[in-house]
Amino acid sequence: MRLIRPAWTLCALPLLAHPFAVPAAAQEPCCRSAGWEVAERYRVEGLDDRRFTHEQYWKALAPAFDSDRIGLTRLGESLEGRAINAVTLGSGPVTVLLWSQMHGDESTASMSLADLVNWFASAPAADTLRQTLADRLTITMIPMLNPDGAERFVRENRVGIDINRDARRTATPEGRILRGVRDSIEADFGFNLHDQGTRTAGEDGPVVAIALLAPAADEERSWGPVRQSARQVAAVIAATLEPDLGQRMARYDDEFTPRAFGDNMQLWGTSTVLIESGLLAGDPQKQELRKLNVVALLSALHAIATGEYEDHSTEAYDELPMNLSLSNDLLLLGGELILGGGEPIRADVAIRYEDAVARTGPRYGEIGDLADVAAVDTLDVTEMLLHAEPGSDGTIRAGEAAVLTVRRGREADSDPVWSIGKRD
Ligand SMILES: [Zn+2]
Repeated sequence: MRLIRPAWTLCALPLLAHPFAVPAAAQEPCCRSAGWEVAERYRVEGLDDRRFTHEQYWKALAPAFDSDRIGLTRLGESLEGRAINAVTLGSGPVTVLLWSQMHGDESTASMSLADLVNWFASAPAADTLRQTLADRLTITMIPMLNPDGAERFVRENRVGIDINRDARRTATPEGRILRGVRDSIEADFGFNLHDQGTRTAGEDGPVVAIALLAPAADEERSWGPVRQSARQVAAVIAATLEPDLGQRMARYDDEFTPRAFGDNMQLWGTSTVLIESGLLAGDPQKQELRKLNVVALLSALHAIATGEYEDHSTEAYDELPMNLSLSNDLLLLGGELILGGGEPIRADVAIRYEDAVARTGPRYGEIGDLADVAAVDTLDVTEMLLHAEPGSDGTIRAGEAAVLTVRRGREADSDPVWSIGKRD
């Protein structure tokens, strides 16, 4: 038994489990290996921090536009006057629309789209995967649909409107641009690219790295032909990522949202898949998730280009566990709490980070009997003491900054095991 996953990814993903390693003899579906290779070899420089500005993004991508394989069109501008651009690849009969970062603080797929554009621009002519996509698809990407939100790394646009709740009214220039492009190309397929809350786990499973959804087009969540195609494409993605992610994938809630773009795209005739990037341990800048999005999107585009999605079982999608919200990032379970040198008291402690991806700004969640509480991570501190520093009023409580050291003994200078937070 060996992993088919190419060697260069083995060190790139040290923290991923591989519960479903593929036997060497098994036929690998397109495009897992190819996707990893594209993600590594054609990674665009200058997007190493997941917070980047509109200017930084388009500057990093600029060299790709020297290629005559890539089209660049200014579609319009945001409320603050930043250009919203379409990047087009290929000239085939099937039209595909991908848009990212309509929520300004959800940047993972914008990085992945940049890498795909770079690959498309600079891959050798003999790259048959690129040629297949170019011949059969016309791909339109709108990376960073909400540049004003991206500038501040916030969800909404400049006037506080969530663009993904503006599909019906299209009051925002950003929403109008997206609707206008969809209508003008009559997109057959759509990819709605987001980052979800990082405190999300699959039912009875670990924290979710990637969640997928073929959004509903009506209250009954019925499976018309448009939504069914999206379901099959989502199944291709789930099957491709399974060897890398296993149980770290989930299905997003499919309740019909009449104001949202994904749901309306489906209504307008565009088979749309939602991809939500969540959290991977040890990936604070979402650079591994960036690669996984490249793998997901390449496999989906290939399946659409070849028509292979039509025969694909939906099982890999249908059997994904549902996304469930967790309220805490970390639980310290089994210890005793000492506050400012007082008597120890049996207490579990929950922690929530202000930035749950970067794990900075720890604050207390609930304190007490948390044996049944769920969290992203758990630390067993049985027989250890949690030496907590009191806040300015002499207490600790939920919502306050957490400053504590786990020690083996009662004494303030006993052996430290782990610590969190600091007072200014
Ligand atoms: Zn979002």
